[in-house]
Amino acid sequence: MHIHSADFVCSNNDITKCPEPNKPEYAFIGRSNVGKSTLINKMVQRKGLAKTSGRPGKTQLINHFLINEAWYLTDLPGYGYAKVSKTSKEKFQKLIEDYIIERPNLVNLFVLIDSRHEPQKIDLEFMEWLGELEIPFSMVFTKTDKLGSGKLNTNIKVYSKKMLQTWAEMPVFFATSAETGEGCDQVLNYIEQLNNQ
Ligand code: GDP
Repeated sequence: MHIHSADFVCSNNDITKCPEPNKPEYAFIGRSNVGKSTLINKMVQRKGLAKTSGRPGKTQLINHFLINEAWYLTDLPGYGYAKVSKTSKEKFQKLIEDYIIERPNLVNLFVLIDSRHEPQKIDLEFMEWLGELEIPFSMVFTKTDKLGSGKLNTNIKVYSKKMLQTWAEMPVFFATSAETGEGCDQVLNYIEQLNNQ
């Protein structure tokens, strides 16, 4: 998919204030520091569109971007950052849950996973929760440039094995790097494919 426009629409912490749900929407989520903002910027080729925080856990808003005047890309708050207060954590956990459950035009959720790490309980539980709610999602392994291809394949295999303890099959997944651009086209083409269905 060629990106010819990427515009910031709004940021908010209230799902009733999200843009009118009149276009297909794709949301990106993951643990703080997983590389979400950097990957979004790389995919849409706009350096400062999604804010790269440097301060994990700080972006606790739902950010909407309009891509090619045709679909919404949503940057959701990062989950699982230990250093925010419990009340604040519960508040944005609820915000994320409400958004995922209630957003009628959400076509697919991209769950970002740092390719360097072993499967983490918080990500596995989050995906199980998505499964229970029958929310369509794909996995996006990030920062692949930090690993050799051998190690990357091993890590993905370990992850698949873990997923298959719960799931009948491995969800659609992508291996990406915001550094080299690996996988960005694949994610965008997948979105295009879903847009055309
Ligand atoms: P977010 O909290 O998930 O939005 O994470 P950021 O996009 O702010 O990235 C967290 C850190 O990881 C930053 O220092 C980025 O420069 C770095 N980073 C993000 N993506 C990549 C990547 O693909 N490769 C490498 N080497 N570093 C990355």
